[in-house]
Amino acid sequence: MFMRINSIRYNNSVVDGPGIRTVFFMQGCDLHCKGCQNRSTWDIEKGKKVDIDELVNELNKKVFNKKITISGGEPLMQKEALIEFVTKLNDLGFDIALYTGHQKEDVPSILLDKVKYLKTGNFIQELKTTVKPFVGSENQVFEEVK
Ligand code: SF4
Repeated sequence: MFMRINSIRYNNSVVDGPGIRTVFFMQGCDLHCKGCQNRSTWDIEKGKKVDIDELVNELNKKVFNKKITISGGEPLMQKEALIEFVTKLNDLGFDIALYTGHQKEDVPSILLDKVKYLKTGNFIQELKTTVKPFVGSENQVFEEVK
């Protein structure tokens, strides 16, 4: 299966979940939060189309500590591809954080079984925070689910 991705930042984030994490930005977002800093991810027709097996192989070679945060964009816009992607990473022993602008009840249970951390809630500019760990605005929730 293929998925559309925006970009990958390897092994250099300490603000997208515990530890040093690779951040994986999926393409496409339909939430359009005011003040979004990732507008280049919005158009689902843009970004790069990649084969999930090739992508997982590349990540397995390059992510030195197997810690990855899947962000966007809105990952749930490509739900089927996301499930395949997360399943393959989980099978390889990755520590996965999933960032969605939706709520926990919108996340398929098959994903909740395979990710370690979940961030829910859209970005609200008026509630922007620089002190609450691993989120951009106070309304958002970062939790350990596994
Ligand atoms: S969910 Fe994230 S990527 Fe989408 S508009 Fe909101 S802040 Fe931007």
